[in-house]
Amino acid sequence: MEPCDQRLRDAFDPERFRAEGHRAIDLLADYLVRALAGASDLPVLPWRPPGELVAQWPAELAVGPSDDDVAALLPRVLAGSTHLHHPRYVGHQVTSPLPVAALWEMVSALLNNGMAVYEMGPVGTTIERSLLRWMGGVLGLGAAADGVLTSGGSLGNLTALLAARQAKAGFDVWSGGAHAGPPLAILACQEAHYSVRRVAAILGLGEAGVVSAPADERFRLRPERLDDARRAALAAGRRPFAVVASAGSTATGAFDPLEEVADFCREHDLWLHVDGAHGAALALSERLRPRLAGIERADSVVWDAHKMLLVPALATAVLFRDGRRSAATFAQEASYLYAPGAADENAWDVGTRTFECTKRMLGLALYAALRRHGTGFFAAYVERCVDLAASFAARLRRAPDFELATEPACNIVCFRWTPRGVGPGPALDQLQGRLRRRILAEGGFYLVQTRLPAGVFLRTTLIHPLTREADLEALLSTVRDAGRAEAA
Ligand SMILES: *Cc1c(COP(=O)(O)O)cnc(C)c1O
Repeated sequence: MEPCDQRLRDAFDPERFRAEGHRAIDLLADYLVRALAGASDLPVLPWRPPGELVAQWPAELAVGPSDDDVAALLPRVLAGSTHLHHPRYVGHQVTSPLPVAALWEMVSALLNNGMAVYEMGPVGTTIERSLLRWMGGVLGLGAAADGVLTSGGSLGNLTALLAARQAKAGFDVWSGGAHAGPPLAILACQEAHYSVRRVAAILGLGEAGVVSAPADERFRLRPERLDDARRAALAAGRRPFAVVASAGSTATGAFDPLEEVADFCREHDLWLHVDGAHGAALALSERLRPRLAGIERADSVVWDAHKMLLVPALATAVLFRDGRRSAATFAQEASYLYAPGAADENAWDVGTRTFECTKRMLGLALYAALRRHGTGFFAAYVERCVDLAASFAARLRRAPDFELATEPACNIVCFRWTPRGVGPGPALDQLQGRLRRRILAEGGFYLVQTRLPAGVFLRTTLIHPLTREADLEALLSTVRDAGRAEAA
């Protein structure tokens, strides 16, 4: 046998995979024990300047093989990474994935069923479509709802707004291009995710193609101001075709008043897109569902499973109330797809519904996790996060040296440290930034910051299923101590 053949055979040796796989799982399970317990020798974020890390991870690669197995590299990767399973991870809206979901991600990686066409991923495709119908049902979108799983909320917003434009522009933008008709506009709250502006630029509208309506004091879209935005767009020679509302805005977790926005859209024949990347999961809870009232009237909804559904990134549902819109988004020949009877088999090729060609089996982990734990588990998890945020907010209100930005509408809480003698302004803003850097360097917590109209605020997402009240009490003393050290 050729020596090269032997090397290839070795690389695919199932017995080596078995042994190494067991070692990898053991290492990861040991890691989970420490991370979930918030072990004192495990900083949430082992912060190092990039220049230092780059020296530790050079791409000086040998031509020949090494005997290193997973045990040689994995501990170093773990040690240098940000630990999302640490209960004091309260940073960005990325979840600490369920172990079972991580296992199924590995299955997806090994099977590698590309899924652009049905025959490249029959199980992946059907699971995806079943999940989408289930998610559409949870949101109340009706029996005709359908959609696609894609790689992230940003790409999801692009996908939905492409469909919106094709449906409402009044001319065939897909074939003729954006210049084949009048300039278009998207109406959105000033608090909308930054991807909406990017989408506008990608669609050829320019960033000025997003016309903003102001938010109220709780960062919710003011529906009575939408008509001003519409008129401003018209006055600028643009034809509005869609309104983007947030169900859980990124900065503060605010829920826009969807009923009023839906009324406005019906009155003016506009597409209603709800960016529920973070907050759509609240629909799983009977108690929290009213915060999403009106979402069932949306033309399209984006819902990230890697945020509040405990699965690894990226897995985003793009849902359409009229499921046929999903098949028409990227359709060069939409009329063919809409033709009675002909659409059926094509509709199973998910590549027609997303910009992606090859993609992972994006629904596998979520499907398996839902089956394992049951939908009630997810509802309880979402409720726990939201309740914890409410009690954290109450704690902040009681503390005289802290200011709460607003009552949290979900599990995102923004606040700042306001020591006596430092009023709002650049000094207070810089202080928040400096104390945050100090906390990151110490590694006790991971939290982020955001700029709101009143200034810079610290921002936390209580997304870890095991974060406790005691952790939040400790967070306040950590912020206070870091603030005092920085103010001194
Ligand atoms: C996180 C988020 C996005 C972006 O989603 P990705 O999956 O990170 O691309 C979009 N909109 C809102 C409201 C978000 O919170």
